[in-house]
Amino acid sequence: MTARIIDGTAIAAAVRADVAREVEAHLAAGGARPHLSVILVGEDPASQVYVRNKGRACEEAGMTSETILRPASLSQAELLAEVARLNADPAVSGILVQMPLPKQIDEFAVMRALEPKKDVDGLSPTSLGMLLQGRPAHVPATPSGVVEMLRRSGIDAEGQRVVIVGRSVLVGRPLAMLLANKAPGANATVTIAHTGTRDLGAVTREADILVAAMGRARAITADMVRPGAVVIDVGINQIDDPTRKSGKRLVGDVDYEAVREVASAITPVPGGVGPMTIAMLLVNTLAAARM
Ligand code: NAP
Repeated sequence: MTARIIDGTAIAAAVRADVAREVEAHLAAGGARPHLSVILVGEDPASQVYVRNKGRACEEAGMTSETILRPASLSQAELLAEVARLNADPAVSGILVQMPLPKQIDEFAVMRALEPKKDVDGLSPTSLGMLLQGRPAHVPATPSGVVEMLRRSGIDAEGQRVVIVGRSVLVGRPLAMLLANKAPGANATVTIAHTGTRDLGAVTREADILVAAMGRARAITADMVRPGAVVIDVGINQIDDPTRKSGKRLVGDVDYEAVREVASAITPVPGGVGPMTIAMLLVNTLAAARM
């Protein structure tokens, strides 16, 4: 069997077009234009690219955005003061503090300081708590992107055995909660695997839907996948590739070429989950403007 490729770029474009239409309707109904404020601390090149892409995506969807640049030497108190200012500004619908932050700043303290209604990254304790309660408010964009991608691909997680490899607060844990929730498109039986899991292959072979969110290049090999399973690859890893001009290329956590011969559907890297993450940030920003 050669797997159907789940085209994240196309699905994300459809989500973004839907958001743009909804923004128009929101404005026509007298709503304020949604506005995203992004705080970028330091000059990490990857973060700069992510932030630029987020800003561009907002504008394409009819929203405004601003990037607040601060030096890598910023203190925690200064960052918290900036967050408090944005929390109180009625013109700001959503706030995103780009991670990772410099060592002197406690990321959890920043997440705690965010006004939950404006927490479009969904990482504040309130947002994560609401998800745990089965009453999702803002859900982190990557896990909600995975669920939206399954839904729009006609893959129903209802009653399926899902195995998620990875338990980060950013991806694995919220995705497990989302898919285990008693809700349409979810209601799955979810297992979370991690570095403490014994015989990982035996666990992943149980999956009807296997999600890799490990940050380990091509760690999920074909023998770890049940024939006919759906495979969602969240991983983004840079590996050496002397055949490329840059000498590098991006791969996921799944050994794509081999696994696509076993799976029924699979997401590529790049062009899979990655584009969904930005699309779902737009969904959250519009939702924040409506709150
Ligand atoms: P993370 O915080 O490093 O978490 C990785 C998780 O995978 C941990 O729970 C870890 O287990 C588990 N793990 C690592 N190696 C393992 C192994 N050999 N066997 C079993 N479990 C293993 O990473 P993350 O933030 O969740 O990100 C995961 C990947 O997704 C990264 O490649 C990242 O770049 C990518 N990502 C992509 C997007 C996107 O938009 N597509 C967004 C976010 C992240 P322990 O808990 O036991 O250490």
